[in-house]
Amino acid sequence: MGRPFIAGNWKMNTTVHQAGFLAAAIRNNLEDITGVEVVLCPPSISLTEVAGVVKATNIKVGAQNMHHEDKGAFTGEISPLMIQGLCSYVILGHSERRRDFGETDDLVSRKANKALSYKLRPIICVGEGLEERKEGRAEEVVSRSLAGSLAGIKSPNRIVVAYEPIWAIGAGEAATGEQAQEMCQLVRRQLADLFGEGAAERVSVLYGGSVSPDNIEKFVSQPDIDGALVGGASLSSDQFVEIVRSTAHERLPH
Ligand code: PEP
Repeated sequence: MGRPFIAGNWKMNTTVHQAGFLAAAIRNNLEDITGVEVVLCPPSISLTEVAGVVKATNIKVGAQNMHHEDKGAFTGEISPLMIQGLCSYVILGHSERRRDFGETDDLVSRKANKALSYKLRPIICVGEGLEERKEGRAEEVVSRSLAGSLAGIKSPNRIVVAYEPIWAIGAGEAATGEQAQEMCQLVRRQLADLFGEGAAERVSVLYGGSVSPDNIEKFVSQPDIDGALVGGASLSSDQFVEIVRSTAHERLPH
């Protein structure tokens, strides 16, 4: 199994002030937790603030996206060069970016390779839509998307994969533990085919989609799920802290 891992994707929420406040509340309530990799992904304008708040703690910072070039005439974009001193992680290929900004697997792989060259750790998101699941194509779709998004990557040592069924994101209704396990197992098998069994075992594979304190345990108790990418519930410090604590309780010796 990979390292227990909980990331909060704040999406386009929080002002800089609110982001600092939220990060501080999370930090203050997780001081005793080690052994779970906790990553906060605020809007890019708040990366500096949040990085300052969690400095000298175990909590890491992640960006929600980045451009695949170092710099240049790309109005409104943010580059790996800009985030590298602030972030350890970067979410890539989130379904909202794929849906709203036309991001393809090819683009995601370019970003992932670039991120790695900057020592940033990509959290690569893949997932099927509702129709695709209904048509029995979930495995085919996720597997194709993962292969495309990982193109050119030589080692999985610094990547994280998040399986996020699009139909469960922001839906209030999560996948079942069995559905999530089935797909995360598929992800891990594919990683093993690409990079070898041992390397695949060490990758943190996450589930994402309406994760809450009430359902986190049914995901992190599965053999191939190391944690979660959390959207809505990560905007509440209480809920996010509880999700991290449940993960620690389920996955760490006590
Ligand atoms: C997400 O944005 O990655 C996500 C899983 O959102 P939510 O937890 O709100 O479904």
